[in-house]
This record gives sequence, C-alpha cells and structure tokens, in this order.
Amino acid sequence: MHGLSVRVRGTVQGVGFRPFIFELAERYRLTGWVRNTSSQVEIELDGEEAALDGFLRDLRERAPPLARIDAVEIERRAPSGFSSFEIVASEHDEGSGTIPPDTATCDACLAELLNPSERRYHYPFTNCTHCGPRFTIIESLPYDRPRTTMRCFAMCDDCRREYTDPRDRRFHAQPIACPACGPRVWRHGGVGEPGAEDAIAVGVLLLREGKILAVKGLGGFQLACDATNDEAVARLRARKRRYGKPFALMVPDMAWVRRLCEPTELEVEALSSRERPIVLMRRQPQASVAPDVAPGLDTLGLMLPYTPLHRLLLDEFAGPLVMTSGNLSEEPIAIGNREALDRLADIADDFLLHDRDIYARYDDSVVRVLGEAAVPIRRARSFAPDPLALPFTTRHQILACGAQQKNTFCLLEEEKAFLSQHIGDLENLETLEHFQAALAAFRRLFRIDPEVIAHDMHPDYLSTRVAQKYPVPGAVRVAVQHHHAHVVSAMVEHGVSDRVIGVAYDGTGYGPDGAIWGGEILVADWKGFQRVAHLRYAPMLGGEAAIRKPYRMAAGYVWSLCRASEAEFAAFIGTLPIGERIILRRQLDSRFNSPPTSSCGRLFDGAAALLGIRAEALYEGQAAVELEALADPQADDLYPFDLLRVEQRWVIDPAATLRALWCDHRMGRPIPVIAAAFHNTVAAFTFEVCRAVRDAYRLNRVVLSGGCFQNALLTRRLLDRLRVAGFEVLTHRRVPPNDGGISLGQAVVAHALTGGA
Ligand SMILES: [Zn+2]
Ligand SMILES: [Zn+2]
Repeated sequence: MHGLSVRVRGTVQGVGFRPFIFELAERYRLTGWVRNTSSQVEIELDGEEAALDGFLRDLRERAPPLARIDAVEIERRAPSGFSSFEIVASEHDEGSGTIPPDTATCDACLAELLNPSERRYHYPFTNCTHCGPRFTIIESLPYDRPRTTMRCFAMCDDCRREYTDPRDRRFHAQPIACPACGPRVWRHGGVGEPGAEDAIAVGVLLLREGKILAVKGLGGFQLACDATNDEAVARLRARKRRYGKPFALMVPDMAWVRRLCEPTELEVEALSSRERPIVLMRRQPQASVAPDVAPGLDTLGLMLPYTPLHRLLLDEFAGPLVMTSGNLSEEPIAIGNREALDRLADIADDFLLHDRDIYARYDDSVVRVLGEAAVPIRRARSFAPDPLALPFTTRHQILACGAQQKNTFCLLEEEKAFLSQHIGDLENLETLEHFQAALAAFRRLFRIDPEVIAHDMHPDYLSTRVAQKYPVPGAVRVAVQHHHAHVVSAMVEHGVSDRVIGVAYDGTGYGPDGAIWGGEILVADWKGFQRVAHLRYAPMLGGEAAIRKPYRMAAGYVWSLCRASEAEFAAFIGTLPIGERIILRRQLDSRFNSPPTSSCGRLFDGAAALLGIRAEALYEGQAAVELEALADPQADDLYPFDLLRVEQRWVIDPAATLRALWCDHRMGRPIPVIAAAFHNTVAAFTFEVCRAVRDAYRLNRVVLSGGCFQNALLTRRLLDRLRVAGFEVLTHRRVPPNDGGISLGQAVVAHALTGGA
C-alpha cells in the first residue's frame, strides 16, 4: 500500500472533474478524497502502486471534454489509512483558479429536452456538468452553487439525487435544475401563469406577427424578430437606432445555414463548436432574408441555438430570427429583468423573461474565417475568460486597459492572460460602467492585484484616463504605442518574442509624431519597435469627421497625393452640396483640423468613395467593408504604386494606385474588377515592403495584425504572396486582429519593460 497527494491546476472546476476523479478512484479501487479549492483540485489517495500509476495515466488521458489540465503536482507519501473514497467540501484558499466558459447544450441534454418521456422534456434550463451556464452566473470561486445566481433555487429530491450520485451526468453540476425546482420562463404582459411551453409558443406567435421580442438569454437580453419580415427588421433598426451595421441571425439547424449561406468546412466546424459563435459567411445570392438584415454585404452572420431556451424557440419558429444584442445602439447589453423592461421598453413589443439571474454581461461572440483559421473578431460569450497560456511567467500582476474602440482589458498572472469579454466603444457612461464592473469581477474571481498598469499612448482615450487614475498606489504605468501592441498581441499568440516584421493595418492609432498612424510596418519585439515603413500621409479633412465621411478622405487623396488638376478636383467634388465644397477647399488650403494620417483603413474608405460606393458611412469602416463585398475574388488585376525611401524608411505612396482606380472608374470599368485590383495592390505593396525589410534586417517572420485584417480577401492575397516567397507568416488565431486584441499586446509590452524576460 502507498499514498499519493495530487494537485491539479487548469480548467478543472465546473467541468465534472471531481466525478471523473471519483470514478477513476473506484475503477482502481483507491481510497481517499477529492476537493476543490479556489485555485486547484486536491486529491489524496491510498492504493497499490500499479493502481496509482493507472490513475495518474487516466487522469491526463481521459479528462472530461471541457477540462483543461495545465499542471499536475504529485507527491508520494506513506498511506493514510482511508477506508473509502469521498468528495469532500470545498476549501477556500488564496490562489486563483479558472472556470470554464459558458458552453452550448450537450447532445445528452438535447436528447432529454426533446424526449417527451423525460422529466426535463421542453425544460428551457436543462444542463449538466458538460454544458450550460458558467461564467455568466458565477460571483466568486470556488465554483459551487451558493456562489452562483442559482443559490436561490432549492433543489428538489430528484435533482438532489442526481447531484449527489457520482455516477450521474449531473453529479455536482452546479446549475442543475428541473421543472419542479428550477428557474422558469414567462412572458411579460401575458395573462395568468403560463408554463414554459406556453410562454415560448406565445412568443413565437408574436414573432410570426412581426413583433419584436426581447429574450433573456445567457449573457444578456437579445432582441429577436422574423428575419424574413422586411417591415419588422426595418422597425427593429429604427427603434434600436442601429443604422447600417448588419444584424446576426439565429437559425434552427445546419440545413437552414446552407439555405442562407455557402459555408466552408471550417465555417461548419466553427458554427457547431461548443462556443456556438456568430459566424460570418458568404451568403447565397438568393437567400431570402429581409434586405435590411445586412445591407450592402455579401456575407451573413449566422449562429445555431446554444441554450435549451433558444432551441425551443427556434424549433417552434422553424425559420431564421434576427438575434441581436438587447441594447440601444452603442450601449452595453441589458441583463436584469427590471433593467431590460426599462431600457428596452421602446424597442421590444414583448418580453420573454426568466428568473435565473445573469451575473456578468456577455455579448454573442463573432468569428470569421481569415486565412486558414476561424478567428474571433468579437471575443465574448463562451470564449472569455478562458485564459490564454503565456509563453512566460509574469513577475508582476499586470492590468492593460486596452483601446478606445472595441475595448477589452487584460490581466496577466503567472503564466496566464485573462482577456476580458468585448466591452464596447468607451464613449458613454454605460460602457465605462460595464468596463469597471467586469474588471472588478475579474479581479475578484482570479484574485489579481495589478502592480503594473498598461495603456495606450493616446492621452484622450477613456481607457488611458482610467489607467492613469486607477487607484493602485505606487503602480508602474506604461504607455504602449497602438500598433506595437497590435503586433505583440499576435506574436504572443504564437509564443514568439524575437524580432519580427510586423504589419499593422487599421483605422486609427496615436502616433508619437503627432500624426494618426494606421498603415504601419514595424520591426518589433516585445520591448520596442522601429517604424521601418508606412503609408504616405494624407490629410484627414475635419479629423474624426472624415471617418463618417469617406468622400473627405477621397478628396484629400485626390488633391494632396494625386495632384489632381482644378478641373479634375471640381469634377470629383461637384456632386457635393455647395457648403461642403467650400469647407473642403478651406480645409485643404489651411489644413485646419486636418491631421496627417497613414491609415490603411482610411485608404480603403477613400478608394470606396472614389468609386462612388459610399460617400458617407453609418459606422466606422462601412465603405471599406462594402468595397471588399463588391470585389471579384477571381480578378488578378493590379494597379501601380511607388515605394519611396525617406530618412531610412520606406514610404508607400498609393497616389498612382488611386489615380488608376479613379481613371478606370470614369472609363466605366466594372466595379468588382476595380475593387479586386485595389485589394491586390495593397497586398502587392505590402509584400514588396516585407521583401525589402527582409533583405535589410535579415528577418523572415511576418506578423499580420490590425482591423484591416478582418478583410478576408486582403488577408488571403497577402498570405499567399508571402508564403510563396518563403516567409513565415503569423496571423491571429484566438485573439481578435482588431482593437479587441490590443490589451493583450499592451500587457506583454508592459511585462517586457518592467523586468520580465
Ligand atoms: Zn449537458
Ligand atoms: Zn429539480
């Protein structure tokens, strides 16, 4: 007889890990106990040598599907004389553990949900240790029912039996529930006390009538309406004040996905993954959804049901539903019943409510296939806060406050990076409060007290001000350049710390020279960077206003870069209102409020405006997105460009490109060919710069980051060219290429600059 102490760290709570250990102990006839602490699972065992070895082997090889083991510590000792194996009460300690994210309904639960002889038939809160809510309902660790929003539901005898039976799929499933004892769903404004089935059935009837239904989901409220009903979709847009931006759809099953889109194998995989994100896919040309769902785009964002409630709703509706965040445009998603009834009163016609409280706000995640991987471009429900493994152990606990747009924050602790869920654009009080609440929750859950605080160099970002005021006396504060953070965020994902060629293309980022950067090629490592190439500066007429008015970018390019004649320029701005024409002329002459920019996103905007695709944008990047949608992926035409050498740097001059594009357009060449040629040219000049940098700096590894690499066509074109020429190319996999990934890069730069390796 021998004794063994085992400590397991990783995602080992809330995933059926203790039942799994219990089963293993039984199989190998071992005695002792297992328990959760805040940071790990502790196991004490007595048994024969061979049995203990078998246990340790299976521990790693047969762990439950949602578990992720980061470390196992083993200590051999004398036997303790245990007589049986038990699961003992959880112990609080000072460490920090990890919790699995919320997970889509598993097959076993789905089968029960749809089987009339099961007691959970059509019960919208069915879950087990392999699926269901987690992070959205946990207030603190260790992960036990009293520390979740399920604490107010007393288990019935049947549920208690399942919960305490180590052989049951629901053994210690903290959100366990059934129709007798668990949460229930009801329709707000409905008569009497309808059961769950009635509320959903009535909700579906309302949806069929074209009504807008607010549905309390997993991480917050969603607004649903019939996606084939033009009038309903238009009304939702107007009431939500969301103009232009596409709506996501939820469809009953994969057959419906194929009816609306042309999914690739990777996209099918992403759609049915346990995260069940919204996946952006090429739409079927004849897909019958209301035109207002995704105006001007060749893609649709679809997702499959991920909770039993969604499953019942979609089965009953049997068609595609718009399923968008329950908020007014730009505000955080609503989570509380009273909050929703109040904030969504003017948007929704009716409410489907339930009484399982949501503790943390999580929007649906969005994924797009870029290059050869499905990459989150909004990382929220079911992705966050699953920690990313760092290729180092941090000396300090670090907080990075992220960017202004698509904000996330990031906390580093030991060898883990906790990247927050998508918070939103930090431009109103509600979003700032969401930031503060999420940060407080992360710090409490993972027990992190940051001593180093990283932020963007932009002095006016709200995230910068939060970082500067963050009340930690003596904290070291580190300002990180925007595009450096982009490049490092992609490097860290691949465990790379040596110097790379970093291509950072995005909309806007603060440049230390006072210009607005965004078309940058850096030679960078974690500690610093050298700006070796960038797009030639063009004036951003009216500053920020040019983001919503792409024709202003076009006017700046045409006048300052292309050196258009008076007659040509007059022809271009001739269609604008007279007042606007006068403003433009004045801004061009005086350069008043017209900062120079090297932004690649603005270059796309300008090109789209020159082609008459979009003069004014309803959301940032809309013109660029539509330019991509129109491009013919078969066309391999190319426009000219110039690479200038200025003060040890390459400056990419797109004047010849824009002139050729403009000229082609006036000659009546088809837009899809011109749009493709433009994409090909951006890939071509980027490739040429990478080649020059390779020769000059003896570097062969290229990293692609920044919001422009959400453009699948640009990413594909550039990847192909670089790979053929023998470059090693690293693209994002788990972290968004857009500003949602900035906080990770900031945190790692801060780590490198404050004594990390
Ligand atoms: Zn399940
Ligand atoms: Zn029950």
